[in-house]
Amino acid sequence: MKNRREFLKQSAAIAGFAWLNPLIGHFSFAGNMTMIRGNVGYYTERGGTIGCYLTKDQSVVIDTQFPEQAANMLAEIRKVNANKINLLINTHHHGDHTAGNIVFKDVVDRVVSHENCRINLEKTALAQNALDKNLLADTIVIDKASFKLAKEYVECRYFGRGHTNGDIVVHFENANIAHVGDLVFNRRFPFIDVPGGASIDQWIETLEKIVKYYDKDTIFICGHANEKYPVQINKSDIRAMQNYLDKLRIYIKQQVKDGLTEEAVIAKTTIIPGAEEWTGDGVVRSIKAGFAEYKTM
Ligand SMILES: [Zn+2]
Repeated sequence: MKNRREFLKQSAAIAGFAWLNPLIGHFSFAGNMTMIRGNVGYYTERGGTIGCYLTKDQSVVIDTQFPEQAANMLAEIRKVNANKINLLINTHHHGDHTAGNIVFKDVVDRVVSHENCRINLEKTALAQNALDKNLLADTIVIDKASFKLAKEYVECRYFGRGHTNGDIVVHFENANIAHVGDLVFNRRFPFIDVPGGASIDQWIETLEKIVKYYDKDTIFICGHANEKYPVQINKSDIRAMQNYLDKLRIYIKQQVKDGLTEEAVIAKTTIIPGAEEWTGDGVVRSIKAGFAEYKTM
């Protein structure tokens, strides 16, 4: 199968256009499924990284990207497992993590999210008159929730506000792999969703709790990474994300103290001093979120 995938990748690169995906019967760039250990892995295509647990009898999906990508990912599951998906868990409400939920509508037993994730997603869907294009959680996490599978335990835990006000970490206990959603952007400027309940101060605290809660062998999966960096990360990468947010906080507070306007700071900033590994598009989003939080101190 790997050879075939490699071949498809190469032919796509040569041809420069989409190929026919025989699994779902329409033109599509399929993504990549990477298994890490203990039947847990991740799927990347377009949008936030999808986590998965997959055996021939049971499966769990964490986040769903967009409908086309969700269908491609479901096709990967169907290569080994024809049963209902046991759990679909959303790490938070953003569209690049939840828009594909609808693809799982009739093939999943339970849909799980934090209560604020559900509230935010429902609000967004209603505003777009698109409730029928969404699949909302039927099982709500407040502080924590655990689910028992035949050979694995899944623990969802809320550590506090961060990227939004409804981010949960999903831990496969036997595999010891945790999906942290968008609480970590690996070396890439993060989206800090202030209207969605984000807080830089709280995000730093939340990451502190996460680093302390999991052990030294835990492997983490994050929602997004700079193209030169992986989405499979470890505690030092979480510490690095925490450092980015801390340096952002220090930088914005200093600019406010110096009397600079948000526009002036945007005009002169391409990198946050002390967190130079963070690059890409989107430093503006960090500056705006920083001003929203610290402009009146
Ligand atoms: Zn997000």
